[in-house]
Amino acid sequence: MPDLSVRAIRGRLLSFLRAPRGAGDAESYRYLEDGIVVVKDGRIDAVGAAADLAARLPAGTPMEQHPDALIVPGFIDPHIHFPQTQVIASYGAQLLDWLNRYTFIEEQKYADPKHAAHNAEFFLDELARNGTTTAVAYCTAHPASAEALFAAAHNRNVGMIAGNAVMNRNAPPGLLAPAATAIADSRDLIRRWHGKGRQRYAVTPRFAITSTDAQLAELGALLAEFPTCLMQTHLDENLDEIALIKKVFPNDASYTAVYHRFGLLGPRSLMGHCIHLEESEVALLHDTRSVAVFCPTSNLFIGSGLFDYARLKAAGVRIALATDVGGGTSYSMLRTAAEAYKVMQLQGQNLPALSAFDLMTRGNAAALGLENEIGSITPGAFADLVVLDARATPAMAHRMETIRDIEEELFVLMTMGDDRAVRQTYIAGKPAL
Ligand SMILES: [Zn+2]
Repeated sequence: MPDLSVRAIRGRLLSFLRAPRGAGDAESYRYLEDGIVVVKDGRIDAVGAAADLAARLPAGTPMEQHPDALIVPGFIDPHIHFPQTQVIASYGAQLLDWLNRYTFIEEQKYADPKHAAHNAEFFLDELARNGTTTAVAYCTAHPASAEALFAAAHNRNVGMIAGNAVMNRNAPPGLLAPAATAIADSRDLIRRWHGKGRQRYAVTPRFAITSTDAQLAELGALLAEFPTCLMQTHLDENLDEIALIKKVFPNDASYTAVYHRFGLLGPRSLMGHCIHLEESEVALLHDTRSVAVFCPTSNLFIGSGLFDYARLKAAGVRIALATDVGGGTSYSMLRTAAEAYKVMQLQGQNLPALSAFDLMTRGNAAALGLENEIGSITPGAFADLVVLDARATPAMAHRMETIRDIEEELFVLMTMGDDRAVRQTYIAGKPAL
């Protein structure tokens, strides 16, 4: 009688062992031309060359074959806005105007649990279609929005990290209304969802402008009370935003210093954007081991500026890569990597394909402190995988005729690929498409 919880997935396997030191760093990854992943109870039980493993599998083990396709760990998106699936592609505004004209209007709809539940299913479907198997998501100020996302994710056994965006000033009354209960709502959501199955909570001040000192202090205290939670917020995205910060917090040395004053920086803190940083802010991010989250499609679309990857890397700041939908313009981490490459090119920097794929998988997992659970094809990790086809379109197939090695294939995937290149997504070993 075969063990029904065991299944195997076969194809070309690529997984990173550490951050590549640059193009050509073959020691940074493990590549198997014909490999097998054995999955048991949603986790990876064994990985190896088909020539070794195939004969050792118990008779009757179901095997899904992906000849020619490249199987990598599922992509991880560490900064995305769940309530902005109908804000993406909103025309003609920079950050503060974009928030007021589009985002703050749309987010008020998430007071309705039915609207939130319906859009949570869409959101998770769309992530899976793009090969993203874990995301760190902002919800709205209404607890119904985070509740809907966690419930839908738990049902699918997909590991999500989310938090309700807490605000008590400088936003419409419909979003401020829950402010009185915001901290209690967050605590309640943490108790209900943090650590339930694969769900985790992120304490979420939207950004410093939309919370008073008192509320930021409460959020810092909440993070101290639940130190295994993550923290997500926005930092130094846009020059008008920074000018407003100086007005709202006249006594703080910098935008980053505001978060630091309230205990919101640390190794589990994800700081979205980090474009216009002063030197003292770079030092604070480094010293607190906070993560700077690079959101290239959003930074270009909203006209915020160019993330200086080389500067932060040289300063030893931890870096992650994210879509930031709906300021970002694509759910695809492949499209995101392509725009990251261009943002770096404009500054005389390069993003090798190895580094981009490491960032989207192992690197982002490490940024979340979850590298033992996700982001690699290693025994013990969840079998969250994406099956990629670098010949998904005629133009890609044509280009692939001249490709010589795996690094060139990865570069075609990140430069020309999108959801069409995703042949299958596995979440805890089960096909999601
Ligand atoms: Zn954002």
